[in-house]
Amino acid sequence: MATDNSVLVIGAGVFGLTAARELQQRGYRVTVADPGPVPHPLAASNDLSRMVRMDYGGDGLYSSLGADAIDGWHRWNTNWGRELYHEDGFLLMSSVPMAVGSFEQDSYSLLTGRGFPLEKLAPGDLANKYPRWNSGHYIDGYFNPRAGWAEAGEITASLALDAQNSGVSIVTGFTASGLLQEGNKVVGAVSSDGTELRAEWVVVAAGVWTPILLPELSDRMWPVGQPIFYFKPQDPDAYRAPSFPPWGADIPRSGWYGFPANSEGVFKMANHGRGTRVHADAERVISPEQEAHCREFLAQSLPSLASLPFHGTKMCLYCDTWDGDFWIARDPERHGLVVVTGGSGHAFKFAPVLGGLAADALEGVENAYSERFAWRAMGEIKSEDIRYTGE
Ligand SMILES: Cc1cc2nc3c(=O)[nH]c(=O)nc-3n(C[C@H](O)[C@H](O)[C@H](O)COP(=O)(O)OP(=O)(O)OC[C@H]3O[C@@H](n4cnc5c(N)ncnc54)[C@H](O)[C@@H]3O)c2cc1C
Repeated sequence: MATDNSVLVIGAGVFGLTAARELQQRGYRVTVADPGPVPHPLAASNDLSRMVRMDYGGDGLYSSLGADAIDGWHRWNTNWGRELYHEDGFLLMSSVPMAVGSFEQDSYSLLTGRGFPLEKLAPGDLANKYPRWNSGHYIDGYFNPRAGWAEAGEITASLALDAQNSGVSIVTGFTASGLLQEGNKVVGAVSSDGTELRAEWVVVAAGVWTPILLPELSDRMWPVGQPIFYFKPQDPDAYRAPSFPPWGADIPRSGWYGFPANSEGVFKMANHGRGTRVHADAERVISPEQEAHCREFLAQSLPSLASLPFHGTKMCLYCDTWDGDFWIARDPERHGLVVVTGGSGHAFKFAPVLGGLAADALEGVENAYSERFAWRAMGEIKSEDIRYTGE
């Protein structure tokens, strides 16, 4: 590999593939390396569904990024010639009145202030429009029609194809075990079998495996396990939009969210909580307590599913940063190294705009997000600092 404008991207998840494609389009010669297959079975970017929304409480920055991303999802659907992003909306329910300072009210105020036509739930709306939900429990909330869900695994596969079609080379069977360095410059990576890939720039996009490759970052980002539950109801249409859009139920307090049944009739729900800190290669199973927690929620909120057997369960790993913000930045100390990761359980929705942010970081171009996603020291975590960003 020549070392002029070449880039080696380590990891073919949504961060790596979008960075690769954008950099190729900006004139670099890009190779992506991954153990494979792509999408990798353990990658966070590989699942049935991911939530897409711009509802981010009072956080105007993520909200703007979300709005741009949704425009991008529509463009991608058109380019793919098939709908992999489904704009079914987002139903946010609350068992307490939405109060100023809450995630729900702040999202509502910010988005309506920006001109988005959200539909506040009036008394009776939940029972009439979304009858599967326990309307005795959820007394407030709103519906945002400009949101939806993305078929994550299919999309990651399509991004890999798009990248290859734009000239990116994807090398599978390569598990980077270390970076190659000459003096103060990173010049490539070596795999566990001794194969070397060299490039002018190395972009590490290895998700939860990033702190294994870069242990110096392990005090600022780490893998956290979160449970996912799948069901196969007999009447899947009852769990599809418009009467059953993507949803969050008391989400800043309970963490529960989920999706309509997909084309195979599979209904998925998950919990976005503090999760459990685990090793990246930990066994991906959930505990009986997590199963019981799910059952308890269903009995209270969605009783029609309360006794349905699980179609499947799994633990999925977030790469959490200490402050919940992404990490899209150049190493300030070593030349030639860029890190794009730290999805913190909410990055997939931004796929259409992530590549541009990564390429800007490599080129040293400042944008509205550079500071928030910068290479940063570990700060002090106070409980009030732990912002709810959602899934
Ligand atoms: C349970 C769960 C639910 C989520 N829900 C949502 C949601 O609803 N909405 C949303 O926006 N986001 C959501 N997210 C977050 C989102 O999925 C992630 O932020 C995003 O997919 C992370 O992408 P990534 O490219 O960083 O990592 P990954 O997709 O994990 O990709 C990393 C890649 O690196 C490769 N790799 C690892 N080690 C090496 C190595 N040594 N050498 C080479 N390659 C390597 C892996 O094989 C993998 O392909 C969720 C995440 C989880 C886990």
